[in-house]
Amino acid sequence: MVIRPPSEAESIIFQITLGCSDNGCIFCPAYKEKKFSVRGMAAIEKEMQTASRAFPDARRIFFADGDALAAGMQTLRDACVCAIRYFPKLSRIALYGSAKSIEPFSVQDLRELASLKLTMVYIGFETGDPGIYAGIHKYGTPDKNAAACKKVMAAGMTANATVILGLAGTERTADHAVNTAHLLNDARPQQIAALTLMIAENTPLAARVQRGAFSELKTFEYLSELKMMLENLDDFPCIFMADHASNYLPVRARFPRDRRRVISEIESILSVGDLRTLVPENRRGL
Ligand code: SF4
Repeated sequence: MVIRPPSEAESIIFQITLGCSDNGCIFCPAYKEKKFSVRGMAAIEKEMQTASRAFPDARRIFFADGDALAAGMQTLRDACVCAIRYFPKLSRIALYGSAKSIEPFSVQDLRELASLKLTMVYIGFETGDPGIYAGIHKYGTPDKNAAACKKVMAAGMTANATVILGLAGTERTADHAVNTAHLLNDARPQQIAALTLMIAENTPLAARVQRGAFSELKTFEYLSELKMMLENLDDFPCIFMADHASNYLPVRARFPRDRRRVISEIESILSVGDLRTLVPENRRGL
């Protein structure tokens, strides 16, 4: 399984790493069958050479897998230089990063990578509530995620912070919404992406659902949570995206300009309560 953000749909994907260096998140089914490793440059270069014959004009590249910044400075520097050599029209390289993988880099290191076209980092904030975050078994804390995001931006890169609607279930939906907004207000990423929780088979979260220890939100409750999150968001400039396959209501908006409009749209959908205004359950995906 290889995953990438929706905005990387047009990018060529090269696996700089295999798997995820964390691999502990209770909701994530992505890389459970893969042991994390950093791939050798010879294999990466060979793939770039082959791909450059088929897509000589490619402008965007995505470095996979789940937390490719964990490849470290040397591999990333070499992979960026190689990508620039084989794709002369390249405008941007993107990858997933995390508090864990960003920590070892200095701002200067990241600046050097940005000068080599690695200018976009997707960081999974998931939630801004420390207690809920501790329960998902991901490395770090919300504050560490905010610090990682600020470091990426200080290096001149674009940070995309991903949050997951419904991550706290029914029990702490308000805490999740409000504290996630507060964390985003602190970090101020240039992009925010909201996904909607899907309970994937064979994950620890699925086991919790089965034994009744986690109560999922219902369709419209996800929208109420999103509304509360947006109501608590400060007016700072960012692109807000909820256009992932998991979302019930696709949104792509420019904040702060569109924030009140998006909230009003959610309010009208909630007041009507018609499921036909939303993406049907069987069309949602990870
Ligand atoms: S860091 Fe990302 S890829 Fe890795 S286990 Fe967590 S959600 Fe999955």
